Amino acid sequence: SYTTLAGRTAVITGAASGMGSATARLLAAQGVRVALLARRAERLEELAAAIKEAGGEALAVATDVTDQASVDAAAELVHSTFGRVDLVVNAAGVMLPNPVDAGRTDEWQRMIDTNVTGALRIIRAFTADLVAAAEGRTADLVNISSIGAHIMFPNYAVYGATKAALTYLSTSLRTEFGPRDVRVTNIEPGLTDTELAGHVDNAELSGQLDGMFDALGGLSSDEIADLIAYTTSRARHINLRQLIVQPTRQA
Ligand code: NDP
Repeated sequence: SYTTLAGRTAVITGAASGMGSATARLLAAQGVRVALLARRAERLEELAAAIKEAGGEALAVATDVTDQASVDAAAELVHSTFGRVDLVVNAAGVMLPNPVDAGRTDEWQRMIDTNVTGALRIIRAFTADLVAAAEGRTADLVNISSIGAHIMFPNYAVYGATKAALTYLSTSLRTEFGPRDVRVTNIEPGLTDTELAGHVDNAELSGQLDGMFDALGGLSSDEIADLIAYTTSRARHINLRQLIVQPTRQA
């Protein structure tokens, strides 16, 4: 059974590109008001303009999820513009693989701050909204984790650890949110064709990723967005709690 997405209000992090951007577009086309959060203001403004041109409602909010003051300011702007939020998508993330003995503490810190603490900051900022919204209607928290949460890849130890933490958080938060009718969905994608791999600062691992995309093909961001629209539009007593999705050839 199905409930309409129209009339809902979403906060989507990582909306400057990839899965976050595709999700914003798809939800907006279904009548969801979307707040677009990421650091690159220009990208967000362009996306907001495209959504509005297509008849949707969007708000660009330049935000760094690693910065508490930035998240506070974003939440304030979202609330004063849109009021209460009933759908939160944590798609902001960075993947910076390297052998652990390269000692790239800068990369570890960025991944932990973005993928784990960043998601937590957003959850904290909008939990009261989700709980209040769930008294009358559907409310959703969607976290984009990764198959890296449970499949081991050499040189991806810290990234995998951040994603395992996010998956664990999703599972754990259900025990707090479920009894209050807030759904939590954890999505674990495999190879997906986005900008994520473009930030890899290791020529060998970057080449390895290119080879995997060539050999296996990647999912598209639109295909992940489609799953998010699916799970958030089920009847409100149905919580699809874990989605693992990979290109068929990525065994
Ligand atoms: P992208 O790099 O295209 O998207 C990541 C987004 O996160 C960007 O829009 C970026 O925007 C935003 N972001 C990064 N750092 C911050 C920050 N500090 N504050 C706010 N926003 C930030 O890659 P994907 O779409 O692939 O990534 C989406 C999620 O999917 C990530 O969590 C990733 O780990 C996960 N994932 C991706 C897979 C893949 O194969 N692509 C597979 C499994 C999981 P900006 O730079 O403007 O801030």
